[in-house]
Amino acid sequence: MPINILFAAQPDQWPTYNAPLKAACAALGLSAHIAQDIPPADVDYIVYAPNSPLKDFTPYTTTKAVLNLWAGVEAIVGNATLTHPLARMVDPGMTQSMAEWVTGHVMRYHLGMDRHIVNPDHQWQPHTPPLANERSVTVLGMGALGAAVGTALARIGFDVHGWSRRPKDIANLTTHHGADGLKAALSHAEILVLLLPNTAATENILDATAMAQLPRGAFVVNPGRGPLIDDTALLDALNTGQIAGATLDVFRIEPLPQEHLFWAHPAVTITPHVAAETRPHTAAQVIAENIRRGEAGEPFLHLVDRATGY
Ligand code: NAP
Repeated sequence: MPINILFAAQPDQWPTYNAPLKAACAALGLSAHIAQDIPPADVDYIVYAPNSPLKDFTPYTTTKAVLNLWAGVEAIVGNATLTHPLARMVDPGMTQSMAEWVTGHVMRYHLGMDRHIVNPDHQWQPHTPPLANERSVTVLGMGALGAAVGTALARIGFDVHGWSRRPKDIANLTTHHGADGLKAALSHAEILVLLLPNTAATENILDATAMAQLPRGAFVVNPGRGPLIDDTALLDALNTGQIAGATLDVFRIEPLPQEHLFWAHPAVTITPHVAAETRPHTAAQVIAENIRRGEAGEPFLHLVDRATGY
């Protein structure tokens, strides 16, 4: 009997994922039937995107796991019908993409590139930026993405500080943790990168109090989630100069409404949630490995902890 794998995402994703999923399952010797329409009682695994129309998991009585295509799970972690093991996406392609995106935006602020890129009056403005090892960068969130981003920035030479819920030991990074460690982490953030999940505990983590703890003139780069930031406090901090600029990839409402003040603020750069997409070829291999584990009775990788919400 083949393993029945339901692909539950937006239909336009099917042509992108169909062949990579089949190839990845075949490479692990899994006999898989992967389709967008399988009777619920026959489904062994669900490959899932939270924008799928599937919201009621009750009929999936024999399903062994729900394998999320996205890293963020805030849209489904509270679904009371989803009682199956739930794995979030940790995809090497997505991780590489995030490291590249953050490095690019951090380098823009570090080197002060804007003064040359946006120079309508053709001013000759020599400016020597500090070297990376003279600049401290803080990454909030030391998970799959934050640790990779911090490591990439440390490789360039930045003095990188990381912050997480639990203690961490990551080569070349200074780590802080817990509520007590946040102030110290923020105090080093000449450039602050937010890579926390969206949970009850992280909402508004960058509020007016936290912004006041940043070095004056800090820059903020947020590819994490919109609710991590108190939008009004950020606008206030930008207007007083406490924060010199912000690059925001994620927002409380997406697409960002036209009337939102971020669009008009000269010190805000908006990118349309593009920092790190799931990459089908590498993601399919991660999904196939989890299915192999499920079939072999081995523990699943990247399981979501319902209690913490990530
Ligand atoms: P992850 O591996 O689950 O890591 C989450 C990190 O946040 C962990 O280090 C965790 O601490 C820390 N954390 C969670 N709650 C905390 C709290 N209350 N206090 C302090 N630290 C806390 O997640 P990931 O794969 O790195 O992804 C992070 C987020 O990036 C996702 O949730 C998603 O929102 C966002 N994302 C955005 C894009 C995009 O394109 N913009 C793409 C992918 C992901 P511990 O290590 O101690 O558990």
